[in-house]
Amino acid sequence: MIDFPLARLQPLPAAVYAALGLKSGGSPSPRSAALLQRALELFRENSEPRGICEPVAAGEFAGIYAGRGQNAPDTPLTGIFQRAASLHLFAFTLGARISHAIGLLFEHDDFALGAVLDAVASVGADNAGRIAAEWAERQVAAENSAAADRAFLYSPGYCGWHISGQEKLFASLRPERIGISLNTSFLMNPLKSISGVLVTGTAAIHRFSTVYPFCDQCKSPACRERATARPA
Ligand code: SF4
Repeated sequence: MIDFPLARLQPLPAAVYAALGLKSGGSPSPRSAALLQRALELFRENSEPRGICEPVAAGEFAGIYAGRGQNAPDTPLTGIFQRAASLHLFAFTLGARISHAIGLLFEHDDFALGAVLDAVASVGADNAGRIAAEWAERQVAAENSAAADRAFLYSPGYCGWHISGQEKLFASLRPERIGISLNTSFLMNPLKSISGVLVTGTAAIHRFSTVYPFCDQCKSPACRERATARPA
């Protein structure tokens, strides 16, 4: 079981400001700082973190990844997962209560606090992926003390993995057990949830220089950060 303590899920101010599109380097106004403090309080009061993670063999994952056959013709994950030391299917949710709290703020025209809480919750959910990746790295290191492997989460809807890939991922992992369901567009409910496959392997397998056609629309080139993050 992976533990998701709120203290580790709670985002740093800089990450929230970046998610809101505010320039880094400048100091936030007193009003922005007060909004963030209130949003962090609401985050702590309304988050109900739950996650599941299960190992999956490369052969089985190949079938899950193929999904409905709608992936891009060439994707980074195709070349990466086959070289991994381990693969884990993963899903995490902050629960329904925080989405309800965000919705209430917008309903009551408190758009500023609603937007900040929405950003706090999104970054908080993403932090769960990092906590899970560190857990996966420890699993591999426990089996091979010489290993200095890195784990990253790859998700349907990103990097050429079609969003309809959620269907087979959910059929195998069954995140319904922790209260996550899929709608007909393959979006998760509760909204502040993440899913995908944790790929653990040498840092080198996560690096690639290829630029894919779908990269043109990419707003968060996580692959670039992966090339430098958490050096071994
Ligand atoms: S640039 Fe974006 S879409 Fe392209 S591989 Fe990197 S993270 Fe994926």
